Amino acid sequence: MKLYAALLIERLKKNLMTNLSWIRENFKKSSALKLNEYEINWLENEKLKKLSNFLGIDLVEAQHLTYSHFLRLQNIKFNNIQKNNWFLYSKCRVCPLCVRESQYQRKVWGSSYLTACVRHKIMLIDSCYNCGTNITVRGIVLDNCQSCNQKISSLPFQKISNNDLITFQNIIEDGINHNSYSTKHPWIKDFPTYLFCLEFISLWAVQLLDNKDFSLDELKMEYDGGGLERHSLKNAKTVEQATCIYFRGYNILKDWPTGFYRFIQRADNLKRPNFTSFINNIIPNLTTTVLEPITREANKYYFTKHYGKGELKRGETDFIRNEEIKFFMSKI
Ligand SMILES: [Zn+2]
Ligand SMILES: [Zn+2]
Repeated sequence: MKLYAALLIERLKKNLMTNLSWIRENFKKSSALKLNEYEINWLENEKLKKLSNFLGIDLVEAQHLTYSHFLRLQNIKFNNIQKNNWFLYSKCRVCPLCVRESQYQRKVWGSSYLTACVRHKIMLIDSCYNCGTNITVRGIVLDNCQSCNQKISSLPFQKISNNDLITFQNIIEDGINHNSYSTKHPWIKDFPTYLFCLEFISLWAVQLLDNKDFSLDELKMEYDGGGLERHSLKNAKTVEQATCIYFRGYNILKDWPTGFYRFIQRADNLKRPNFTSFINNIIPNLTTTVLEPITREANKYYFTKHYGKGELKRGETDFIRNEEIKFFMSKI
């Protein structure tokens, strides 16, 4: 699926006018509206209508090309597009082998959670291998690095042999491209819930685990500890940061609740500064949200640890009610 910004540049390319600032200038003159290049994939309402008119594109077609439309369909809130968790704002990722086939920016590459091409089984790229400059939409459509002219389609890439990473990336691609979610999970039954959980658990993994817990040896990726800004994950994460962070999140959520017990046990052992706040404030507050099963399992973990007999197994201590969590949590 093409993105709005990519479509714009393609139109310009046909007319040999490859400068995005040209269209912005002319649009500004004709509509008195200012556009910034990153905003284009997020346009809504009047601005989108005016730009569609200006370009002669059907409004409904234009709507389907934006991230905002996708998020509204999924009932996912976003207030600040620059800092939103779901889609990249100023960064761009690309599969060089897909560009070899056709030069346009795929919508799914904009997902914060997508860092691999599932079709080619290779990692996406966000900067030029030759000069280090960030990949841009214009660079993808013209198939050259905007700084050194290196062809994007011939940039070196990294193959993926980890099937789990491909499975994870397939969940994301299916959700975004096909509005579908077929993962068998005990309580995450739809794609928006999956994204909420993934974002939540990954954010806390970054705060509670050690950098080396995120390293991916087979991809020779080491997590540099970046990507966190105050208490949320940055929108502009690198491919390496996003892969390390979200693949850890994926692993905590899969095979529920075993992966989660392993996570909370590790965090409990490490006891990093935010751990107490996570247990005392964050976990109890999830009870009224779709993330409530996380509270329930944290509950079981603590009950077993303080009152039980060793390791917790699936299905045990189901009798604990969520109201009791505050009681248990206040004891640690
Ligand atoms: Zn590809
Ligand atoms: Zn370059």
